[in-house]
Amino acid sequence: MTDTVAERLASIRARIASAEQEAGRPTGSAALVAVSKTFPAEDMRPALAAGQRLFGENRVQEAEGKWPALVADHPDIELHLIGPLQSNKAREAVALFDVIHTVDREKIAAALAAEMTRQGRRPRLFVQVNTGLEPQKAGIAPREAAAFVERCRAVHGLAIEGLMCIPPAEESPGPHFALLAKLAREIGVRALSMGMSGDFETAIAFGATHVRVGSAIFGGRTPLTRPPEPAA
Ligand SMILES: *Cc1c(COP(=O)(O)O)cnc(C)c1O
Repeated sequence: MTDTVAERLASIRARIASAEQEAGRPTGSAALVAVSKTFPAEDMRPALAAGQRLFGENRVQEAEGKWPALVADHPDIELHLIGPLQSNKAREAVALFDVIHTVDREKIAAALAAEMTRQGRRPRLFVQVNTGLEPQKAGIAPREAAAFVERCRAVHGLAIEGLMCIPPAEESPGPHFALLAKLAREIGVRALSMGMSGDFETAIAFGATHVRVGSAIFGGRTPLTRPPEPAA
């Protein structure tokens, strides 16, 4: 890729706007979370200069090393945790992140609730749903999602804003996005975190309110599962 982060961001934003329009949705109704995992802090500067403020990280420890100094310079940054959360990292996660997309079990809900009370900080929360029932993937099973969201509210006092999913890599994502949207309607939550570099336009068609786009903005991550680009 010879174009710059700013150019790629502009292109993704234009594609999001077209997808919103095509779906008959208001412009700006699908928020872009720029997934910056594996890229160093200095790579964030051009994205920040281009006005990007929502960023996604999948590891608490990596984010702790990268973001505090950038947030000090840009207090309107909104940090999203999109990777699995261990309960022994709940303290750091609540301190650093504004939105946590990966609440998926009772122990995490309890740990987050305790930390939110202790710190007086209330990150917005999404419940991750394992729509493909993949054993290696985090997330609550679709049929258990409604009861889990209700327990988050009733037992732990947590307001759940929406649902998040990562469809199986080898399957067509549409049915997974449709399932997540249906569950959100049934449960009565508004937000849908779904769609990545390869499928964010499809996700917007199915109602995504947050798309999580990494490699299409920052470039490929190593090690890549796909072969390197041939030399031009
Ligand atoms: C890495 C990651 C993304 C971004 O994936 P790309 O294909 O690089 O856009 C989105 N969501 C989650 C949960 C991720 O871990």
